[in-house]
Amino acid sequence: MSGQLDETRRGERLRMVEEQLLARGITHEKVLRAMRDVPRHAFVPDAYRSAAYEDRPLPIGHGQTISQPYMVATMTAALDLDQTNRVFEIGTGCGYQAAVLAQLSEEVISFEWVSDLAATAREALRVLGIDNVRVYAGDGSCGLKDGKLYDRIIVTAGAPQVPPEVRAQLADRGRLVIPLGSRHHQEITVLRRIGHDYEEERREGCVFVPLQGRYGW
Ligand code: SAH
Repeated sequence: MSGQLDETRRGERLRMVEEQLLARGITHEKVLRAMRDVPRHAFVPDAYRSAAYEDRPLPIGHGQTISQPYMVATMTAALDLDQTNRVFEIGTGCGYQAAVLAQLSEEVISFEWVSDLAATAREALRVLGIDNVRVYAGDGSCGLKDGKLYDRIIVTAGAPQVPPEVRAQLADRGRLVIPLGSRHHQEITVLRRIGHDYEEERREGCVFVPLQGRYGW
């Protein structure tokens, strides 16, 4: 669970939730609550702090971005989290999505390809007292070597396919959310595992930075 979150700029978060999320049909109360609580501005570089609650992605360095609030909410809602879930995230970036997931689950294990970003994300989470996220630097597309199954898996970079080792780590009745498609355009895709079968549902279009590593571009 998270400790003390930063209460400043709460008014801007309430407006973000009203105008960007509720107005576009996101009604999952738990997701809305997490996004009212997590201080997005604490995850963006100083130069973009004033823009932290705007309706768009923002640069976080190394050619990467923090996703638009609406996209974070959409993917989080699609995961349909339960407080007991263990979550595997690929693409920590600045750590904002991980912080939102952490409010709604037991534990988040997050992998980030760029080690500088992993370090910055770790520090932002520490400062906010969010202690149920573990951030590792490395290629998350190869899955985790812990041999465990995860209830929920989220990939926050655009991918040409579901990385097979990652898919194999999805627990029965689990859900995996990933932007699948071409390098420049993807669709939010939800995979549900039922025994040995996977049901795939394609949702809205999106544009994410490309997945790197073994199963990336
Ligand atoms: N969830 C993030 C979004 C970050 S953008 C947030 O809230 O800010 C996607 C991130 O995925 C980038 O930081 C990129 O470096 C990372 N990434 C791309 N391919 C990866 C891989 N194979 N393993 C781990 N991280 C990866």
